[in-house]
This record gives sequence, C-alpha cells and structure tokens, in this order.
Amino acid sequence: MSLIVQKYGGSSVATLQKMQFVAEKIKKYFEQGHQLVVVVSAMGKTTDELLHKAFTLHPSPPERELDMLLSTGEQVSIALLAIALDALGIPSLSLTGGQAGIITTDLHTKAKIIHIDVHRILEGLEQNKVVIVAGFQGKNLQDDITTLGRGGSDTTACALAYALKADFCEIFTDVNGVFTADPRIVPQAKKIDRISYDEMSEMANLGAKVMQLRAVDFAHAYRVKVHVRCTFDDQEGTWIEEVGNMENAQVRAVTHSGDVIKVVLQGVPNRPGIAAQIFEALANLSVSIDMIIQSEGRETVKDVAFVVLKEDESKVKKAIEELRGKINFQNIILDYEKSRISIVGAGIASNPQIAYRMFKILAENNVNIDMISTSNLRISCLIPREKMEESVRALHREFIEEEKIEVETNE
Ligand code: ADP
Ligand code: ASP
Ligand code: MG
Repeated sequence: MSLIVQKYGGSSVATLQKMQFVAEKIKKYFEQGHQLVVVVSAMGKTTDELLHKAFTLHPSPPERELDMLLSTGEQVSIALLAIALDALGIPSLSLTGGQAGIITTDLHTKAKIIHIDVHRILEGLEQNKVVIVAGFQGKNLQDDITTLGRGGSDTTACALAYALKADFCEIFTDVNGVFTADPRIVPQAKKIDRISYDEMSEMANLGAKVMQLRAVDFAHAYRVKVHVRCTFDDQEGTWIEEVGNMENAQVRAVTHSGDVIKVVLQGVPNRPGIAAQIFEALANLSVSIDMIIQSEGRETVKDVAFVVLKEDESKVKKAIEELRGKINFQNIILDYEKSRISIVGAGIASNPQIAYRMFKILAENNVNIDMISTSNLRISCLIPREKMEESVRALHREFIEEEKIEVETNE
C-alpha cells in the first residue's frame, strides 16, 4: 500500500470518454488499497482557448483576471472527474488549489508556491476518499487565485508529493515517458528509462514540454521520485531521479522550441550599466532570457540580442517601452521566425568534438546558425524556423541513432 500522487495532463482528460478512462484507472489503483491524491489539468486545449478569448478582448489583459479565468479550466476537470468516480462508486473529494492549501506568491500567471497546508487533503484521505486537486493553481495571502505558469500542474503534483511525503509522483501523459527527442517529430526517438534531475531540467528548459521546468527543479530540490508514463498504456515510463554521472560525456536528447522570439536592440549606447538596465527591466517582469549576445564593433553604440519565450511577448514589449524612456537605443527588432534546437547531456561541453559535430551536421543540412549558447549540460543553436524539424531529425541520427559509446583501451 502506497501513498501516490498522480497527475493527469490535459491530453489525458481531453474528452469525457478519456475522463471516464482515467476514472476507471484510478478505481483500479484505489481497489488495490493505495491512497491517492490526483492532480488534473484543464481538458485538452482549454487553457489555450481561454487565453485566446482574453487576448481577443485586450492586448495585455490584467494578470489577476487572467488567473481568475485560466483557473476555471482545472476546476471543470476536478468536478467532472469526481462525478465520473462517483458514477463508478468511488468516493472522492475535489479541491481547488486554494482549498488544497496551496499558498503562493503574488506573481500572477507565474506564482511560486510558498507554503502547503495539507490538512484538508489528509482529512479526505483519512475518510478513505480519492482526493482530486486542481493543478496549476493556488491562492496568494490575500486569497486571490494565482496560477503557476504554463504546464504548472506538474509542479502542483511534485509539490504535493513532497508535502504529503508520498512514495512517488506519477506524471501521466500521452506518451510513454521522456524520449530522446519529441516522438511526434522523430519517430525513431527512444524512451529513456532513467534520467537525472539535471538532464531533465535542461531538457524541460529547452522545450521538451513533457515536464514543466519548475516541476523538475522542485522535484530535484526535494528529491521527489517522479515516474513519467502514459495514461493509456501500462508500460514502465521514465524515472527521473538522482543518476550517477557517466564517465563519458554523452548526448542524451535533442530538444527544440519554436515558441521563442529573438529580440535585437540596435544601437544601444556603449557605456557601463546599460546591460544591467536592460536585463533589470526584463527581470522585474519575470521574463526568462537565453542566448545573450552583445555585438563587437562600433565604438559608441552596440547591438544587444537575446532570446525570450513567446509566452512572455507582452511582458517583453512592456519592458521595451519602459526602456525607451531610459536608454536611447536606435531600433528594436522582434524576430518570430527562429527556433532553438539543442543537444542535452551531462558534461557535453567538456568534449569539443560534440560541438564540432553538431555544427558540422547543421552545415551539411545547409542550416545557418544565428546564435549559439552552451553550458556544461547543453549546446543550443538558434536557427531558421523552417529548418527546425529536419535539423532535430539530423542531430538525433548523428548523436542518438548512430552513437556508440567509445571504450578506451591501452593498446
Ligand atoms: P500533458 O497534457 O500530459 O501535460 P504535454 O503536452 O504538456 O502533456 O506534454 C507531452 C508532450 O510533450 C508529448 O505529447 C510530446 O509531443 C511532447 N514532448 C516534447 N519533447 C518530448 C520528449 N523529449 N519526450 C517526450 N515527450 C516530449
Ligand atoms: N492547463 C495548464 C496549461 O495548459 C496547466 C497544465 O496543463 O499543466 O498550461
Ligand atoms: Mg504538460
């Protein structure tokens, strides 16, 4: 008998039929004697549809109201799942994030969990109920509803697994686990049986949306064991856990993200403190930045380029408007036609052969690299959007399908 936190993503509860399937799956676990806390996401594309409505009415909707709106998606799911379970004779209790005791910061649309009071959840479990919690949401200290950023139900699940000292956290989704590339783009992608928190964090950061970045980092910080697996299949999925470092630097996965914007501030004054001002304006709005490049060249002015996520577009525009009043840059370009592709694996930057092979493969495929960034865990290139999918496939062929781990001998 275990205490398990399970999370069912939007694709797993996209229709009433799938919701019923999930209810039957929960029933099986429940009848085996497990205690279950089930986190659910909004059905299918509900969150996108709600966002679309808000942005139709307003170019930059008030964020408190966005959270009020978006949280309704998950609320529909918890109620329907409780109703479906009742129809199967399984007692359950549905709770919004706030009711489940999830207290967050005030930062609407990207709030951070600061405290979890699990007493209502424990009461439900003691009454032998399946406790169903709305993912992706909490409340701040003023009782206003907040949300945890796109994909945030993963964070709800990992945080509850930690707070409840669950045996493990199961992330149920529409693929069999974490793959060496998005299986929708690379049919040859292989399921990874075990992956380290660090590698998974980097993959999530670079576009493998199977797990939200913050959820992985939370699981890492509190050593929550996470099993990513398929709702519609009983196979073992991928375990995210502490994995001892391989001696050989090895590419574990190829990731991509088309949801990025390249921002170029042209003709920025060349004097100390300007970069700090630019990135302060972005940081104040919680915009995450990647691949910063400052041009060499002209004495008095420079160009500063960086990459942001599309979901932060309205915040970036706001920050740029603020900067316009403070620093005299000459021009701004927002480039929506780029994608970021990356190879991920512990220690790969320490092997110069790997970077060389990545650039060579892109060159052979006639791909012009616009920006590059590296860390010990990844090498990323910004490339034209139309080259993204074929580049991911080419890199996957080179580094995963044809890769053989070299064994050194003394001969
Ligand atoms: P959910 O609705 O369950 O939260 P998501 O759509 O957020 O599911 O995440 C699952 C999707 O992530 C998969 O359908 C897959 O296309 C995509 N994905 C991208 N990269 C990877 C990867 N490396 N491994 C597995 N899935 C990936
Ligand atoms: N429904 C939210 C989203 O689409 C949260 C989640 O699915 O995890 O981002
Ligand atoms: Mg998701």
